[in-house]
Amino acid sequence: MNFIVFDLEWNSAQPGKAGIKENRPELPFEIIEIGAVKLSPELEPLAFFSANVRPVVYKKINKYIARVTQRDQESLMQGDPFSLVASDFADFCGADAILASWGQSDPEVLKQNLEFHHLESTFFTKALDLQVLFSHLAESGVKSQQRSIEYALEFLRIDADLSFHNALNDARYAGRILNALLLDVKTEAERRDALRPFLYNPFLEREKRWQETVAAGSGPEAIIRGQEYKCPACGRVLNSTEPLVTTKKKKRWTWLLYCEQHGQLRCQINRRRHEGKDVYHFRLTLPYPPL
Ligand SMILES: [Zn+2]
Repeated sequence: MNFIVFDLEWNSAQPGKAGIKENRPELPFEIIEIGAVKLSPELEPLAFFSANVRPVVYKKINKYIARVTQRDQESLMQGDPFSLVASDFADFCGADAILASWGQSDPEVLKQNLEFHHLESTFFTKALDLQVLFSHLAESGVKSQQRSIEYALEFLRIDADLSFHNALNDARYAGRILNALLLDVKTEAERRDALRPFLYNPFLEREKRWQETVAAGSGPEAIIRGQEYKCPACGRVLNSTEPLVTTKKKKRWTWLLYCEQHGQLRCQINRRRHEGKDVYHFRLTLPYPPL
């Protein structure tokens, strides 16, 4: 396994009115820094990558981002063009890399920036969310707990000797967390087995939402079962032998469905009454990690 732990810093539109004109919906976050660590099969640091990117969309540093990253306007202008940094980063990653990061926003933002610049993104198709991994291996998967890197370091008694919110340092910390989480797993094959459920493809479409308006009082079961459910990732028609699970008030349902290729999906359905009609909101998701 070729693990690259990476972290990004990004700039965005100015807060408030000034930012409305500036904002580009196809690129809400523009990368200004990439930091990464390549790990050995034993999950020890092998090589480091650090580069500043000169933004072309949000050229003025957002004051909140400046405060967190300790970056200023001058340093923002000293970076290299994104295309150059992205190509160096792809070389650094090498073939068949698994890009690990704290949370899922970094792979998402990297993907958006590559697409915005019409650059090759196939150098990474596998990602690992270390925040979710930490939650499962260290805190038995307690839901809705999005821990910070600082929290995980303290929990695992890892020294915090580097400053935070610098892309390279945050990547190094995330690498140390991955190492600490799998410290007791001795062989590479066992490590692969432990991590496999947590790998995901950041390019997969994982969610689909739609709604259906019907005459008030229509039977919910027939409406819900009568929808066509297709996997957001591959478009296959889904099937289910699971019962519809509802809350006491019968305004909310959950239904598990199955895709031949992607396994179990979850559909959440909410019903709201609006102007004498019943509006059903469907949210179909491919869960991560898998159910
Ligand atoms: Zn599928």
